[in-house]
Amino acid sequence: MRIDHLSASRIETFLRCALQYHALYDLKLEEKVHPAATLGKAVHLAMELSTRAMVAERHPTLWDPHNLVIPVMRRYEIPNGERLRVWQLIENAIEMGYFEDIDYTVGCEQAFSLFLSENVPLHVPLRNRDLLVGVIDRLDWHGDDVTIHDLKTGKHIPSERELANSWQVRCYNIAARSFPLESEPRLGGVKFKFWYLASARAVEVEKSAEDAEEDRIELLSLADRIIRCDDPQPNPSGLCPYCLYEEQCPARKSK
Ligand code: SF4
Repeated sequence: MRIDHLSASRIETFLRCALQYHALYDLKLEEKVHPAATLGKAVHLAMELSTRAMVAERHPTLWDPHNLVIPVMRRYEIPNGERLRVWQLIENAIEMGYFEDIDYTVGCEQAFSLFLSENVPLHVPLRNRDLLVGVIDRLDWHGDDVTIHDLKTGKHIPSERELANSWQVRCYNIAARSFPLESEPRLGGVKFKFWYLASARAVEVEKSAEDAEEDRIELLSLADRIIRCDDPQPNPSGLCPYCLYEEQCPARKSK
């Protein structure tokens, strides 16, 4: 298969079902958007705009994300019946203390795009030669330590171990260690705080520089696996009903 870049979600998709990866990123078929994902985008946008306004000490009316519920719902065409749900997810974030450390916030929707190695035998040139791309919801800097915040609106809460092994955490750890440092050329811990707004629970994990180095090597080997995969196979799971390729999929079309 061809790749132009990798991201945590692309890697997770490939590892879950190579055929779905092929449909989404190789054939570039249009993805089905789950209604819950659209609602999550609206909550993310309200929290992002509020965080930006607080950090820049601008637009005090935007500091309270409740004021943004209606505009973000309009933006994503979310039915009015979901208004209380969007409001409650935002309320939970505030009650849980999402804005408490805002003085340390240096980035919001922080995009990264990293060149990882000369030695990836890609079939097509990479955009800017960068293999790994992504966006971090919020980045806080405390001395030599970084905290990456990530908002989740789904109901499932993974264990700390699952989170630490997720490619989202692993990619963000690699990315955080590539950001330019203002003072010492050394970064201590990279902490991750996942805010599960539907359950009002936060889960924290931490990753080291050694983890980032091991994951960087594994990521390059995964890129190689994807490129060499010329017969992607289906791997049915509970997520098949949300797969854009379900009707054509040999493992599902008879269902
Ligand atoms: S329907 Fe299921 S098994 Fe088939 S490609 Fe999609 S995710 Fe994979």
